[in-house]
Order: sequence, then structure tokens, then C-alpha cells
Amino acid sequence: MHASQVITGGSHSTGSPGTECGNCEAPLHDGFTLCHQCTTPLEEDLRAVAGVWEDIMVSGSRLDVGAPSVGGSGGHAGSREPANLDALDKAQTLRVILGGWKSQLPTVGPFGEPPVIAKWLLTQIPFIRKMEWAATLKEELREALNDCRYATDRSAERVSLGECWNEIGGLPCGGTMMSIVGGKIAKCRLCGATDGSRERQRWLISEAWHVQAFLPDIARWLTTSGHARIDIKKARNWVNAGKLEPDACDVDTRRELYTPAAVIAAYRETPTGRREQLANAA
Ligand SMILES: [Zn+2]
Ligand SMILES: [Zn+2]
Repeated sequence: MHASQVITGGSHSTGSPGTECGNCEAPLHDGFTLCHQCTTPLEEDLRAVAGVWEDIMVSGSRLDVGAPSVGGSGGHAGSREPANLDALDKAQTLRVILGGWKSQLPTVGPFGEPPVIAKWLLTQIPFIRKMEWAATLKEELREALNDCRYATDRSAERVSLGECWNEIGGLPCGGTMMSIVGGKIAKCRLCGATDGSRERQRWLISEAWHVQAFLPDIARWLTTSGHARIDIKKARNWVNAGKLEPDACDVDTRRELYTPAAVIAAYRETPTGRREQLANAA
């Protein structure tokens, strides 16, 4: 185990107080609230808006899609969802998000549909990066875009959530469970079985118990998968108190790396963690 070099924080007593990236918590200066690395995906998403918007408008106008009578009865229940209304609903969310954040900028932006707004927001990136809400915009936009993609079912960004556990005729299906990024449902590509994304993530993390990662990421994984609600600020306190030690230090970023196993172990030493363990054992 490497010594925990003190590279966190640092008490610079001059100039404006340091900030941290609202997304990844990397230390920042000059009033930035979104680091360079986290800005790139935001820019990519803003560029993707025009294409996604076009797709969703096409889907939304296909009023026949999702009509329950399509294809007659019998056979597989083709699980056709009412894509049209869903698509329009998701489109509206995207419109509201982009329009809402646009109006929060000091400069008056153009009026129009999401592609127009997104294009303009791209020109405002230097200002957006200093807004308190930059990380929220990034997150909301990604989610809205994925929802739109899911509704149009085209080029959605998906994640693999491991092997399907379904049995068909006594044999394991062996297909891959996929979920849209941030989605609630994982679905097997092969047999169509569904499972909660959260449960799948939970299982995957228990399989990846000793993978090294940054503390905020581990806290998020453990929390979203329902293993334990890890408050990142508390986790940092455990580090400061010597109750949680880094596993290594990332060479590129000079940030410390931890494992989910170590974080969970530290959590279980807290009063809340102990209580929860007792509750689970009961
Ligand atoms: Zn960042
Ligand atoms: Zn399957």
C-alpha cells in the first residue's frame, strides 16, 4: 500500500477560494465549476442534440407506432410500447431543459427548438463552465438525450450489465443484459428477459470488489446500486481520520485510488453501517 501523500485540498491562502468540478470533484481554480475533462462530454452532447431531435420528431409523428392492433393478435406479444406519445414527452423534456438553462445565462440567447439552443449553448461554453449549475446541465442533458434515444431506439448509449440468468429449457440463456445509461431496466438481448439495472449493478460491483477507482465514483456506484448510501463528504472524513486508506495513486491525475471493498469496510465501521449490517443479518 502506498503512503497517502497529502495532495488533497491544500490551503492556498491567497486569491479566490478554490472550487471543485461539480461532476468529478477535481480541484479547479479561477471560478470554474466544470473541469476540462467533464466539459468535453457536455460539448459532445450539445452537438448530438440536432440529430437526436430529428429522430425523435420522426418517431413522435408516427402515430401508428404503438397502436395495440398492429400486426393482429397471437404470436409474440411484440411488446410494442406507445412510442409516439413517449417520444413527444421525452422531446418536451429536452426542450424544457435546454430552454431553462439557456435562460439562466447572463446573455440573451436565441429562441427556437433544441437544435438552435444547443448550437448557441456551444458558443457559451466558457461562461457555462463557470456557472454553479454546469454539472447539473451536463447530467440533465445526458439523461434527456438518452431518454430521447431510448424512445426512438436508435443509437442509444447502452451499457452491458452482465450475463442473463434466465433459464430456457433448463439451460442458461447466456445472453447479455443491456441497459441504457442511467436507465432503470436491463433487458437481455437474446431472450428479452428484464431485470432491474440497479440489482444488476449491485451484482457487478460485488464482482468488481477490488477494482481501483476514484472515491467519488465508488461512492456513486455503491449508492446507486443500493449497496450502501455513501456520502462522499463522509467518505473523505474517513480518509482524513485514517479509517480509509487509498490503494494507490493514479499517475496521470495524481489522485488517490480506492476499492469498493475498502470503502464498504470503512462504512461498516460507522454506527450507521453497523446498524445496517445487524438489520441485514436479522
Ligand atoms: Zn470534472
Ligand atoms: Zn436471456
